[in-house]
Amino acid sequence: MTDWKREGGCRCGQVRFKVSAAPLVTMACHCTGCQKMSSSAFSLSAAIPAEGFEVTQGEPVIGGLHGASRHYFCPHCMSWMFTRPEGMDWFVNLRSPLLDDTSGMTPFIETWTSEKLPFAQTGAPHSYEALPPIEAYEGLMKEYGAWTAK
Ligand SMILES: [Zn+2]
Ligand SMILES: [Zn+2]
Repeated sequence: MTDWKREGGCRCGQVRFKVSAAPLVTMACHCTGCQKMSSSAFSLSAAIPAEGFEVTQGEPVIGGLHGASRHYFCPHCMSWMFTRPEGMDWFVNLRSPLLDDTSGMTPFIETWTSEKLPFAQTGAPHSYEALPPIEAYEGLMKEYGAWTAK
């Protein structure tokens, strides 16, 4: 898990980023907001410690609801790239399909299954009707670390 280094970028390549810290957890979100933002059945993401994430090229712009959680997009191709969630500055929720190397990005938890499309399956070992309770996160991250080490 040390020396976890990957790069990635948007659809057109104008915005590029570098990741230098292993994901805390990988996720699929079935909420209707993610369905709309990704124009798909669910969104995929990896929670990256904020200090291990850096935009190396281009200037992402705010999109989505322009609310307290900041959703960043490429200004040219409009790819949804990452989110800085409200009140949780310690991690960046990176859209994992934007990594150049997407190996190991299998979702470990899926959220908002109460809003999921009937056919949508992610294979995530942990499912939540909404979000996991706050007190579950620490255990989930530990378990994720053991899961990815296999
Ligand atoms: Zn782009
Ligand atoms: Zn969502």
